[in-house]
Amino acid sequence: MAERKTILITGGAGFLGSHLCDRLIADGHDVICVDNFFTGAKHNIEHLIGHPSFELIRHDVTFPLYIEVHQIYNLACPASPIHYQHDPVQTTKTSVHGAINMLGLAKRLKCRIFQASTSEVYGDPSVHPQTEAYWGNVNPIGPRSCYDEGKRCAETLFFDYHHQHKLEIKVARIFNTYGPRMHPKDGRVVSNFIVQALQGEPITIYGDGCQTRSFCYVDDLIEGFVRLMNSPSDLTGPVNLGNQSEFTIRQLAEKVIEMTGSRSELISKPLPADDPRQRQPDISLATQKLGWQPATPLAEGLERTIAYFRTLLGA
Ligand code: NAD
Ligand code: UDP
Ligand code: UDP
Repeated sequence: MAERKTILITGGAGFLGSHLCDRLIADGHDVICVDNFFTGAKHNIEHLIGHPSFELIRHDVTFPLYIEVHQIYNLACPASPIHYQHDPVQTTKTSVHGAINMLGLAKRLKCRIFQASTSEVYGDPSVHPQTEAYWGNVNPIGPRSCYDEGKRCAETLFFDYHHQHKLEIKVARIFNTYGPRMHPKDGRVVSNFIVQALQGEPITIYGDGCQTRSFCYVDDLIEGFVRLMNSPSDLTGPVNLGNQSEFTIRQLAEKVIEMTGSRSELISKPLPADDPRQRQPDISLATQKLGWQPATPLAEGLERTIAYFRTLLGA
């Protein structure tokens, strides 16, 4: 095992953060989970409460934080449109002030810091698939801007702290990820379709359903996080992490119906503003530098996610 470290995870009670807590504790580290529970939930981490390697702090990252750790994973930020658009000013503050505070903490401690950035920095891309070199096509004043521009500014801050203060940074651009512990009401497509199918409600396809996404299973993504964090210090990123298998939203709906044995019908709803038509990561950099690529096929990941929601909903 690698040297035992104390590792801070902001947003550690959320979907991705809670899986990262599990993984790092399983690897033999001590984890400090910081969360304000805006979208996270205690039940995501309740199995860790009382574990000698786990500590929970209720804290909002827009305020300074003075603790001692060896590494920081900065995940705090609502990730689904429903949640990040609920209080857009707070979303930008979380991304920007949160990044400044965590970078200030990393600067004082001289420790490595990882940023959970997003494929949304590419906006509605005019390059397909998206490589890290693509600068993006982002609306600065639309409904998604608080998230997209907040994350872009956070990346800017990470690179400026790297250049100006010689901080060791690791920036991951995460593409759509799914799995157990997704919030059942966060409106993201995988959780929506599974919940609707299990409850026998109509499956809501926004627009014509021909828009595409590529879905990465959570365990694969977390493996990418850990590899990137522990990569040689000259690898700052940004590094795309995601699955390259691209599906239309209609194909996803049909697959979920088939796998749940649901009788739900497909219905159309209006396409949200600025909804990207296509999204697929180019993961050559991650493959080359980290030896990483997703291993879980959609059917297998969906099976585990459906099982989770069946238990959660008692369906
Ligand atoms: P999530 O909403 O489940 O988790 C975010 C966590 O951050 C929650 O526990 C929430 O309570 C916490 N949080 C929010 N604001 C905070 C604040 N001001 N202070 C402290 N904690 C705060 O979302 P997730 O899917 O787990 O996403 C985690 C990170 O990964 C986010 O930064 C998100 O932008 C990024 N990301 C996720 C995806 C995805 O597909 N899930 C894709 C791209 C990027
Ligand atoms: N900060 C923090 N914890 C620390 C050190 C700094 O939360 O251990 C915050 C603090 O709010 C500070 C911000 O990080 O304003 C940026 O820190 P930096 O050292 O870059 O700038 P300065 O202290 O000069 O504002
Ligand atoms: N979507 C859909 N029905 C839903 C939820 C989402 O058709 O009930 C579509 C949405 O319009 C988008 C895609 O699924 O084209 C992925 O949406 P999600 O919010 O999961 O992620 P993002 O748009 O951030 O990639």
